[in-house]
Amino acid sequence: MWIGIDDTDSPEGMCTTYLGAVLVRRLEASGIPVHSLRLIRLNPTIIWKTRGNAAIAIGAEGDPDTAFSIAGSLIEELADLACERTNPGLVVCGDRRPPAAFAEEAITGFCTIEGAIDACIKAGARYRGWKNGRGLIGAVAAVAADLTESTSEYLVYRDVSRRERERIVDAETLARAEEMTFPHTWDTVDAANNVVVCVPHTPDPVLFGIRGESPVWVSLARHLIESEEPAIEALFETNQGTDAHLIRGSTGRLEDGRSYIIAGTVTTSPKTGIGGHVSVRISDGENHLTCMAYEPVKGFREIIRALAPGDRIVACGSYRNTTLNLEKVCILDAPPLRIAGAPLCPSCAKRMTSAGAKKGYKCRRCGERLPDPVIRFEERHLLPGWYEVPPSARRHLARPLCRGSLALPDDVVNVISDPVDWIYSK
Ligand code: ATP
Repeated sequence: MWIGIDDTDSPEGMCTTYLGAVLVRRLEASGIPVHSLRLIRLNPTIIWKTRGNAAIAIGAEGDPDTAFSIAGSLIEELADLACERTNPGLVVCGDRRPPAAFAEEAITGFCTIEGAIDACIKAGARYRGWKNGRGLIGAVAAVAADLTESTSEYLVYRDVSRRERERIVDAETLARAEEMTFPHTWDTVDAANNVVVCVPHTPDPVLFGIRGESPVWVSLARHLIESEEPAIEALFETNQGTDAHLIRGSTGRLEDGRSYIIAGTVTTSPKTGIGGHVSVRISDGENHLTCMAYEPVKGFREIIRALAPGDRIVACGSYRNTTLNLEKVCILDAPPLRIAGAPLCPSCAKRMTSAGAKKGYKCRRCGERLPDPVIRFEERHLLPGWYEVPPSARRHLARPLCRGSLALPDDVVNVISDPVDWIYSK
């Protein structure tokens, strides 16, 4: 059977993954062996999320009614039901799981509570929603998710009573864990920006979490880290770091709240606005799209600032309020800049000046005229390839480049007709 749970936390505390880790222990203590513990991230733009829009699924062997009752009691014990925005959902299904398409929509788009209930009924699942029952969406999505591609996260929790205290995690051991296990683990620290990424600052039970490609790598990294005494620990299989939220899109046909991969040509010079946010426009036809690199993405903004009209790129990010919030870009082609300037006078070698719009150039000294400017080409320093935001600004679902992406050899950059298919076969 599969048990799905979501929406148990609030900004003041708790975390659905912690509830999942406790539930695994309760189930096993009741003679229900657990074979899977999954952490499924859903659409990162959902307005109802508390933090990272996570839901959990537990795969176990045993009586579904007993599991339903144990899980329901635990939700009542641990969920922050007093918080208006906390609306837990619980689903337990047997052999028949809700369709994977429901999970895909929850990860890339929008679902309704009615849709979640309908999926439960069709799968013959036991379900319960507390308060407005919105958590049923995440709970159903978690049990329905296919996880064709997965990564691991090792989560270490402190006692809930310590939630207001500052976390004690030794920074040197975090740096050592990163050094010894990167790129098989990622987002432990953001060395370039001197930020510890894996230790949250919110008042929840998570002490730290290590993300990586397999259970072995995250366990190895975890055991290199020294910290205050943890309460419990759990290893999750997850869709984090897989780009599962990204769908193919084209400018002019984007839906607010979805996340896209879009190939296009840069049409304007990048601009740095108030607060250091950088914007640039791209187009893949008639329509234009503004892409944003906000201040928290730090050095990634330098890549966006280095773009120029005519560059061909692939942009990835979430579309909100008419702009694409960039997570990463692939530079396909950044040709030398073509700069037109006034020519030198062929008679007296002085720099000529413009003779007016479309009137060519004129020498102020000898009156010589020339019709065309001189063209010079300025080499670019922007190399083709993928560039991403730093770990401190990365979305949970975004696939880090350290997981591998195809390099772009020079000889194919100019001949590929559909670059997205070529470089990004999902
Ligand atoms: P928690 O740790 O409790 O899971 P969170 O940051 O993951 O916190 P939630 O508190 O679970 O966020 O709130 C997200 C809410 O949005 C849940 O009720 C979930 O069912 C719902 N939700 C998630 N994805 C979608 C979606 N694609 N469409 C509609 N509702 C969604």
